[in-house]
Amino acid sequence: MMISDGLLNQLWEAHKLPHRNASSVVVTEHRVAAMFDAEWMHRFQLNDLVFDMEPRLAHCGIDCFTLARTLELPVRYTFSPPRRKTQADFSGSESIHVRDVAGLLIWLEKLGFAVEPAELVARVKPQLNAKRYLTDSEMFVHLYETQRGRSEVILDAQDGGSPVRDEVLTTFHGYRLEVRLNSEGRCVSLRARGARHRASRKPKPFDYKCPECKQTYSKGDRDAGILHRRYHNKWMAVVRPGPNPKFSALSTATGVVQVDSESPLWLRQAMYDRALHFARELHFDFAQWDVEEKDGPDRCVGFLFASEDGSTIAGACAFRWREAQNSSPAWALQWMWLAPPYRRRGILTRHWQSFIARFGAFQLERPLSAAMRAFASRRGISEIEDDGGDPVAR
Ligand SMILES: [Zn+2]
Repeated sequence: MMISDGLLNQLWEAHKLPHRNASSVVVTEHRVAAMFDAEWMHRFQLNDLVFDMEPRLAHCGIDCFTLARTLELPVRYTFSPPRRKTQADFSGSESIHVRDVAGLLIWLEKLGFAVEPAELVARVKPQLNAKRYLTDSEMFVHLYETQRGRSEVILDAQDGGSPVRDEVLTTFHGYRLEVRLNSEGRCVSLRARGARHRASRKPKPFDYKCPECKQTYSKGDRDAGILHRRYHNKWMAVVRPGPNPKFSALSTATGVVQVDSESPLWLRQAMYDRALHFARELHFDFAQWDVEEKDGPDRCVGFLFASEDGSTIAGACAFRWREAQNSSPAWALQWMWLAPPYRRRGILTRHWQSFIARFGAFQLERPLSAAMRAFASRRGISEIEDDGGDPVAR
């Protein structure tokens, strides 16, 4: 994180001062209890609390509100409630919420300072249980016990110049500070590691394109990996489909299952999944099938092709009723897609005559896939009709 050159050097100067034991635990406990009840702390109260724990920060002229603002913790005006109905003047003062004070103390501890956030954390944490969202300070509090002493914080100075030498300092409670200094001896970068910090042995996540589903994701990142796996499995279930008992029960003798706007959702979804693959392969950015298709079966009919044994969805195609201005209304084969293992196995040939019987001399809408072009040419269908329109089935 970037902070001002001045503040970074104040923090470093404070670390170089000898550490002395701060105020007693009992005093801190009393003070924390009182401020927790008041919920908001004024500048002088916050400074008193922090400087009692870490006098070195006061000695180097650090102001805790400046630290809060550096961390983007909200500083707000708070007011005493009006005492009289007619009261017209109110004087407020800048304050910070007690939960953000906890966040600030935890951050100072991560930087190796001898502050004591535990007392406040213990009071704030039970308040977080019912919350749906947590702020950054509340996240610090929530993770405090498990992450204490394990952190690594890196601060860099804005316009700090180039480092010429390094210094290392170990605090009395085992935090390791590594600083980089410029030619004038000013600190340009400070790294603070907790006494229990262990460098992660896991390699850094990197962008990776899956050779199978072609999705690019951050490999090595757990959440990205889970999302990819979910997508990958859905994708592969269409590309390398396995037996589907529900489909098997429907495909029977004809080897196709008709799907239209009145079909069950899972069949409309199966059509959509295959339309999506067609779109990807031909580099469209949209699928030509909608799970919530508006056109009824008189204007839009899809088919799911079965494998030879009828058990598996091998692919799909869709016909639409077209009413173009310059040609007579007719059905058109809008798209067709087969899973790679079922290509060049005569599936379309098997159904071609029954499609012609049902839809007449339907058009083959372009763009045609390479397989469809090859199929059309084998049947003597030219890719563009004499009038320049889409090829017509025969
Ligand atoms: Zn994949």
